[in-house]
Amino acid sequence: MDTEQTQSVLRSRLAAVEARLQAACQRAGRPRSDITLIAVTKTIPAAIAALLPDLGVLELGENRPQALWEKAAAIPHGHWHLIGHLQRNKIERTLPLTTLIHSVDSVRLLEALEKEGTRQQRTVRILLEVNVSREANKHGFAPEEIAAVVQSARTLRQVVVSGLMTMAAYAEDPEAARPTFRELRQIRERFSPLLEPPHHFRELSMGMTNDFEVAVEEGATLVRIGTALFAGLDEGTS
Ligand SMILES: *Cc1c(COP(=O)(O)O)cnc(C)c1O
Repeated sequence: MDTEQTQSVLRSRLAAVEARLQAACQRAGRPRSDITLIAVTKTIPAAIAALLPDLGVLELGENRPQALWEKAAAIPHGHWHLIGHLQRNKIERTLPLTTLIHSVDSVRLLEALEKEGTRQQRTVRILLEVNVSREANKHGFAPEEIAAVVQSARTLRQVVVSGLMTMAAYAEDPEAARPTFRELRQIRERFSPLLEPPHHFRELSMGMTNDFEVAVEEGATLVRIGTALFAGLDEGTS
């Protein structure tokens, strides 16, 4: 596929996702402007991801820090979201490149981010990842840990807690994800009153290709979409 063909595939995939997003917003009685689409570029090369800003997609996500570094170097005007596990030895390089870290999954990581944010004199916007579905192979705080994390957020100066993130267990039927998304929203409602500014829980990062419409119905403000945009575009380009 040449660049023009790739562009036209991307344009039609984006239009299809946009139509689904708008339909979900309508069902939920929410304005479309409440929800930010993050294009998850982990399966495509930087050369293809680089076409996205011209198509109006500036919010870009990667799950591996090293891949984010590479693609952010290739697409520096993108707004990069880290959506996967961050090892502490990768914080220093990651902070200058990211607009939001969705995947903070331990108090130790929170403390290390505060320390490096202070050193770099940089505000670090983060979400707390919650393992709502309680899968053993998943990162994230257990729901019952959130109360303690909210307490420890009081001491943060450089890190700004801005919401919650979760991944539902994969299932054919997107309805199976609904209880997970609903529980994340309930965690927000329960603990928001305990957070002091600048910290807040306004953002809910939830919903992927298979379940983003349900996530929007349950209050998602950030949806992370890869496959629906990029399936089949990973080959024949390198
Ligand atoms: C890959 C990934 C996504 C996108 O998933 P798709 O099903 O391809 O849309 C979203 N969130 C996270 C954390 C991911 O790793």
